[in-house]
Amino acid sequence: MKINIITLGCSKNTVDSEQLAAKLKNNGFEIVHNSENLDFDIAIVNTCGFIDAAKEQSINAILFLINAKKNKQLRKIIVFGCLAERFMDSLKTELPEVDIFLGNYNADEILKSLNINKKNNKYERIFENQKHFAYLKIAEGCSRNCSFCAIPLIKGKYISRPENEILEEANFLAKNGVKEIILIAQDICYYGFDIEKQFLLPDLIEKLSQISGIEWIRLHYLYPFLFPEKLISIIKENPKVCKYIDIPLQHISNKVLKAMNRGGTKEQTINLLEKIRKEIPKAAIRTTFLLGHPEEENNDFNELLDFVKIQKFDRLGVFTYSEEEGTASQKNYHDLISARVKNSREKKIMELQSDISFKLNQQKIGKTYKVIIDSKTDDENYIGRTEYDSPDVDNEVLIFSQKPLLIGNFYQVKIIETNEFELIGSCELS
Ligand code: SF4
Repeated sequence: MKINIITLGCSKNTVDSEQLAAKLKNNGFEIVHNSENLDFDIAIVNTCGFIDAAKEQSINAILFLINAKKNKQLRKIIVFGCLAERFMDSLKTELPEVDIFLGNYNADEILKSLNINKKNNKYERIFENQKHFAYLKIAEGCSRNCSFCAIPLIKGKYISRPENEILEEANFLAKNGVKEIILIAQDICYYGFDIEKQFLLPDLIEKLSQISGIEWIRLHYLYPFLFPEKLISIIKENPKVCKYIDIPLQHISNKVLKAMNRGGTKEQTINLLEKIRKEIPKAAIRTTFLLGHPEEENNDFNELLDFVKIQKFDRLGVFTYSEEEGTASQKNYHDLISARVKNSREKKIMELQSDISFKLNQQKIGKTYKVIIDSKTDDENYIGRTEYDSPDVDNEVLIFSQKPLLIGNFYQVKIIETNEFELIGSCELS
């Protein structure tokens, strides 16, 4: 029987789906990821329930499958993950065509629902599209209490994975050809604090960097406040750690940061960014902002716009606020900012960022970068990334090479042209 695993939401969901795929294959199923062709028997949807846009995407995916099932194009629909965890009862009532609803990812529950239970190596994965990079989850849940965020309600308190388990999985991935590991959690800075009241991320990175075969270690979801002291020097000095800082700031106005309960100030944010830029001048900084929080007035938004203009982030993403059931923001504020205003703020900030990205990329022309090859487009053209670019969210390097390049290998690429989201280069192999 053929199973299509549809993964929505964040890279943490990707890890769960990739591991689930290996378990199902091990039990004799044929697996496809995110296939849009209705050539499968069972659909398993790994949902996201973070904000309105994500919830809508999950619901639409399920409705599409329900329609296919009604047309006898598939037999069974299983839905799990954050949306199901949050709205189990109402989903069961409103979508009775779904065969099984399960909460947060639990492989044994899913296997049991398919009457199978053959075990495999717990680290085995069927990657969604590549074999040379992998997301590595180091914890689950979150113990920060940002007032707008439903994740702690869905995933619970922060639980660090045991260090030996993370190292074992990283070794397994390295032995299976993974060269770039991307550390993820809701907040990787908090790693270890729930167990030993110490931030243990720097030590973990040191140990991961001793694993042979791993060439790049990339850090995602760094929390800006109570930033682990040693982290900046580890990123600076450890040659395997990408000079890439993914640090969601969410906002910069002190009034809005307070209303968001982020636990820090504008001054602390600027001090941290200055320190990072002083210690690691070449580092690429990626951030995310949440626009349209009920406490965000025009002057708060303009303050943010000025901040973005001055800071010139290498990469920037935005979300717009949605009132999330059960969050402190929902209890304390009314979501009075219209969708039109939220969208116009999003448009303004992304237009500014697109101009900033364009100018920053221009400065790369003539320079040569170490690039990992992600895919091949035709005989002489490839797509890759520098250490300053994470998969799916950042710049791509379009590479011309007369000699064949191997996917997953590193090459020196000279940049000859750029636009705001792409670098175009050539690889002169001797
Ligand atoms: S750090 Fe804040 S925004 Fe991120 S998952 Fe935790 S509560 Fe949500």
